[in-house]
Amino acid sequence: MTGRLTIVGLGPGDEALKTSRAVEALAAASDLVGYHTYLARVPERAGQHRHGSDNREEITRAREALQLAAAGRHVAVVSSGDPGVFAMASAVFEAIEAGEKAWRTLDVEVVPGVSAMFAAAARLGAPLGHDFCAISLSDNLKPWEVVLQRLTAAAEAGFVIALYNPISRARPWQLGAAFERLRLLLPPSTPVAFARAISRPDERVLITDLQSAMPATADMSTLVLIGSAETRRLDRASGDPWLYTPRSLEARS
Ligand code: SAH
Repeated sequence: MTGRLTIVGLGPGDEALKTSRAVEALAAASDLVGYHTYLARVPERAGQHRHGSDNREEITRAREALQLAAAGRHVAVVSSGDPGVFAMASAVFEAIEAGEKAWRTLDVEVVPGVSAMFAAAARLGAPLGHDFCAISLSDNLKPWEVVLQRLTAAAEAGFVIALYNPISRARPWQLGAAFERLRLLLPPSTPVAFARAISRPDERVLITDLQSAMPATADMSTLVLIGSAETRRLDRASGDPWLYTPRSLEARS
């Protein structure tokens, strides 16, 4: 079998934040598979086939990619950010696990990318400088109860929390409910950042605190970052304040 499947992270948006390996893998593919919006971020190449689909059809898309690779094509599956963070790489492995034996002999490569939390953190300063975690607020693939349990545990453990998928038309109330839960556990002054469309032309950043954070500030392109008790806000004469979390932790009482 000569087919190949590469799962490629496109980074947060800016071409300069796409890795050289990702650029190479995209150029070498005979077929590109992915969500329409992400495929639109890949330069057109003569002779290359594009298989665009809707956002929700991840497993179908993964199977389609595996079938093409099994037929000998060089397939690149694209994801935004890093393909292993709430994205296509897991969908491909789920499809392999449940699918044809022959798929396990395929040459599969995962090409990492700059995930939204790293792009957002770099834009803000260094809020992920100490222990942190990432939680998807989407309850499409897990019960909402589990999301709340994880938020509670993360806040109690003192992690900085990166919230992916904070809100969508189908999930309008979850971010508000998440803030309500966090307000029971964290001080009102806890820094909160809304980092929208980082590294894209429509980028927007808002830094506030937990008591003032409004869910309506977020949309589907926003990463919401909740600081820990250690996260500091450094105000400056011009420009947004910096957020950073020191590397060391004073012993807690
Ligand atoms: N694999 C992607 C995440 C996919 S989930 C990654 O590693 O970044 C989609 C969520 O990612 C969005 O709802 C948003 O929360 C976040 N996101 C993706 N790109 C972003 C960007 N440029 N700026 C801010 N958040 C982004």
